[in-house]
Amino acid sequence: MDRRTFNLGLGATAAALALPTTVKAQPYQGPNVILVRFGGGVRRTETIGETSTYAPFLRHVLTKRGVFIPDMRIAQLDGVDTSHAEGTLNLLTGRYLAYRDAGAKFLQDRLEPTEPTLFEYLREAYDIPSHQALLINGEDRPQEEFFTYGVNEHYGIAYRSEMLSLHRFKLYKTAQIIADGTASDAALAAAQEQYAELMAADPRAITPDQSPEVTAFWQRWRAHYGDDGLRNPRGDRLLTALAARALKELRPRLMMVNYQDPDYVHWGNPSHYTRAIQVIDDGLQWLVETVEADPFYRDNTVFVISPDCGRDDNPLMGVPFQHHFNSRTAHETWAVLFGPGIEQGRVLDKPVDQSAVAPTIAALMGFRARAAEGDVLSEIMT
Ligand SMILES: [Zn+2]
Repeated sequence: MDRRTFNLGLGATAAALALPTTVKAQPYQGPNVILVRFGGGVRRTETIGETSTYAPFLRHVLTKRGVFIPDMRIAQLDGVDTSHAEGTLNLLTGRYLAYRDAGAKFLQDRLEPTEPTLFEYLREAYDIPSHQALLINGEDRPQEEFFTYGVNEHYGIAYRSEMLSLHRFKLYKTAQIIADGTASDAALAAAQEQYAELMAADPRAITPDQSPEVTAFWQRWRAHYGDDGLRNPRGDRLLTALAARALKELRPRLMMVNYQDPDYVHWGNPSHYTRAIQVIDDGLQWLVETVEADPFYRDNTVFVISPDCGRDDNPLMGVPFQHHFNSRTAHETWAVLFGPGIEQGRVLDKPVDQSAVAPTIAALMGFRARAAEGDVLSEIMT
């Protein structure tokens, strides 16, 4: 059964399966969690190296606020690729290889989770609407749209997260232009063409529609930035802008921000990589300040920051900084956690597996990630 068939089949029963009308989940009273993928694959040297970091806010400010785990590792297992979708799904499911190829016709690297994600566990345990379980994704990675829910029978679409990305905004915008029908013939034809392209990249976008709250979010975004795409921030700055605006307008209880731009180093320019790390560091500072300025989030929000994967450290490589060759450093990441319930000013100086992130977030939020294989890091909790 392919993804679409699965969705259509499920669509028929979704209302019955879904919804908190049959089993009333309890209201959520735990801390909010912002999970930041310091993504696109980064090495320890340029991120957490004490004197070599390009992320000074992360390294010199945030590590001291909570628990700093300098030696997080991606396990050396057969079939584990150290890459972006894989690492992200490890962080979201708490286990390795909990994904399958979602049928890449148009895109590489298109994986969908086969075990529940944190969003699904959270929304099954608590009465939280989909727009308060948010994924913030990059503009050119519609393959990451697949992370909003898995194909696990008990969970899935009824407990999905919502997604904010430029891909989603363009879908909203082109659908609006077509529905309005007031644009010029040329503009209408362009919108129809773009809409068809977007749908081809991710047919799941219609199943289901985004919630009314997210649609209203896009309506305001469009009113603010307009239609030409020239006024809104781009790249990882866009993710920060989306995340900060979402905190104010949607009030997420769990939000994952999937930064990605250090990955442009695949095309060879190391300064793009170090610059991208600085942009993420600035984004972290903006998000932390946004949280601190808002009584809804202040003193009640946990940040968990960790890369999807590492990068090669081998000076003999023709193109340095790659991450697909299973080298030791591609398996080397780190994590920083701070906020209520977490010890302050501690370095957890031992190897910690990447699969510990999801079950630890689950424990902080008061549910169990049943299918996770990693350990809950209870030793870092107060
Ligand atoms: Zn990459």
